Amino acid sequence: MSIFDRVALSTLPLIPTPVMRRLAGRYIAGERLDEAIARLQNLRDAGYPGIVDVLGEDVHDERQARGVVAQYVTTARAVAEARLDAYVSVKPTHVGLKLGEDLCFELYDTLARECASLGLRLRVEMEDHPTTDGTLRVFERLRARHAHVGIVLQARLFRTLDDIRRLAPGPLDVRLVKGIYLEPAAIAHTEPEPIRAAFVECARLLAERKAQLSLATHDELLAERVLPELTRRGYGKTDYEFQVLLGVREPLWATWRAAGHTVRVYVPYGPEWRPYSTRRLRKNPQIFRHVMRDTLLFWRS
Ligand SMILES: Cc1cc2nc3c(=O)[nH]c(=O)nc-3n(C[C@H](O)[C@H](O)[C@H](O)COP(=O)(O)OP(=O)(O)OC[C@H]3O[C@@H](n4cnc5c(N)ncnc54)[C@H](O)[C@@H]3O)c2cc1C
Repeated sequence: MSIFDRVALSTLPLIPTPVMRRLAGRYIAGERLDEAIARLQNLRDAGYPGIVDVLGEDVHDERQARGVVAQYVTTARAVAEARLDAYVSVKPTHVGLKLGEDLCFELYDTLARECASLGLRLRVEMEDHPTTDGTLRVFERLRARHAHVGIVLQARLFRTLDDIRRLAPGPLDVRLVKGIYLEPAAIAHTEPEPIRAAFVECARLLAERKAQLSLATHDELLAERVLPELTRRGYGKTDYEFQVLLGVREPLWATWRAAGHTVRVYVPYGPEWRPYSTRRLRKNPQIFRHVMRDTLLFWRS
């Protein structure tokens, strides 16, 4: 991490909440479910299906973890009631992974049943490397029961190609990402170009497995490299989609959409936006730089 990043990140706790809220506002739908639903409806009207995430991670006890699942159930019902093409995406540590894999499995399973009854998909997200094994074990147990549950895999981790090979045979739904957590060089690629190359390699392997693929990226150069690999392996436009974060590179969404690709937008909401945003920014100062640059451009325009 550069000295600039260290100094900039050390000021984060000092930024007043209204200013942080303004910084975060572009990337987060709001604190309430109705704000998330309204944002998803706007996106739908503009031609973009959605993903909804209740902000938070690392719950401290079982009561909290059960509360999170209850919130997700309410969210899933609201999405179905509004007839949105959207699904829910959940971090394992938000539903108790660090308290125990059985608890985490039970809570995901409860939510998966609810989602199935509503006709919605469910995505198990991927967090930092100490949680990878547990997340994959929980996912494999879920996958044995539920065809509509997908996973996230991180291209930057050296282990991911082997993880893909180790996943049980059968239908597979994967959101492929570069990986937001800055992992140690002993276990992960740390430079942009090797991360891109690893992403292409993972996409190739997943395509050989005929996985349903979500390419979650805002990197058009990467997309240009991945798409021919998919086409070569017989993928049509319904076999994959692009996924993007709310507020990030909207002109690129429009370009991809105009080219006939599905572009699905990730919409996070919830009262825990400040600790979440701060942790995110600490984990990846690159995003802090994006935010500061965009904010400066916004103020200058
Ligand atoms: C739908 C979705 C779900 C995700 N889920 C996970 C997950 O479960 N686990 C996980 O580890 N990671 C997840 N990620 C994050 C992912 O791993 C990357 O950190 C993130 O997408 C940035 O990488 P990139 O491929 O866009 O490439 P980058 O090279 O980081 O970015 C490409 C360009 O996009 C712009 N950009 C990227 N991010 C931002 C930002 N936040 N603000 C402003 N501009 C930005 C910049 O202009 C940059 O030059 C998810 C990403 C998406 C889109």
